[in-house]
Amino acid sequence: MIVVMKAGASKKDKDEVLKRIKELGYKPHVIHGTTRDVIGAVGDERGKQVLQTLESMAGVESVVPILQPYKLASKEVKKEHSVIAISDTVKIGGNEIIVMAGPCSVESEKQIIETAQAVKDAGAQILRGGAFKPRTSPYSFQGMEEEGLKLLAKAREITGLPVVTEVINPETAELVAEYADILQIGARNAQNFALLKKVGQLGKPVLLKRGMSMTIQEFLMSAEYVMSEGNQKVILCERGIRTFETATRNTLDLSAIPVLKEKTHLPIVADPSHGTGHYHYVAPMAFAAVSAGADGLIIEVHPDPEHASSDGPQSLKPQKFADMMQRMKLVAEAVDRTL
Ligand code: PEP
Ligand code: MN
Repeated sequence: MIVVMKAGASKKDKDEVLKRIKELGYKPHVIHGTTRDVIGAVGDERGKQVLQTLESMAGVESVVPILQPYKLASKEVKKEHSVIAISDTVKIGGNEIIVMAGPCSVESEKQIIETAQAVKDAGAQILRGGAFKPRTSPYSFQGMEEEGLKLLAKAREITGLPVVTEVINPETAELVAEYADILQIGARNAQNFALLKKVGQLGKPVLLKRGMSMTIQEFLMSAEYVMSEGNQKVILCERGIRTFETATRNTLDLSAIPVLKEKTHLPIVADPSHGTGHYHYVAPMAFAAVSAGADGLIIEVHPDPEHASSDGPQSLKPQKFADMMQRMKLVAEAVDRTL
């Protein structure tokens, strides 16, 4: 349910409503609007009538049900786009297109620092790199783990770029959060509810990737898991879904971008690297994603893709990435965005 407060409601009125929501066994989430606050009361759906009684409290304008199964992620609760601050200067969800770039896996100090410098010079605002890798095969490279996190922190220190890196289980989530600016939840963990709750409690921005067989509604329900723990800083990532097509690694679902824009206030980025699996399809799909309304991109870049420990075939060399970024400026301009 959404409790819509009156424009002139006092702090005392609001505190009383928050207290009552908690007494009734629900979790209140305050969303500050330009003219009034609304409070999302989320919890067991069976008690809707009880919540309706809040309508008689001072300062309350109305109590309305949220029709979508996802609540805090829905446009019903918050109409304006969410802008998520990653650092003092980098914000996702505003007018500027945000590009996260870097290797699939951190492999060495030289590799990550060289790549970080190159993607920064080309205009990327965030560095990506996996330290804990969720590989389909237990025999594939599993990542440098904490050593990799330390190298990412070093690359951030040198370049000033905030870092996004994947967290693969609740046990190591706190460790990853000590180093990362954004916690990435990978496609394979997109419905790992224990992990989603854990990153919800940690409070750091979360880049939530769409699972490979997830509907858009299921995707938003996963976002809801993070948000219902009190962390509203969720960035959605369309990274391709599994279809009958084999010419590409996945099918990048571009139509998910406008659909999500209609259904949620959360920012949306696209991943044309995992979405296509081939470096030469990355730029056209990146342009298409920005044209479709994406707020940002996450792109794999490697100085020596032929020898990459993971995802070499879909990684751009730094020069190709720089060329793509140049052309991207024109695409951004065409859709009234900046880069
Ligand atoms: C990755 O970003 O390297 C990754 C493993 O992506 P996904 O979870 O989308 O497969
Ligand atoms: Mn990868």
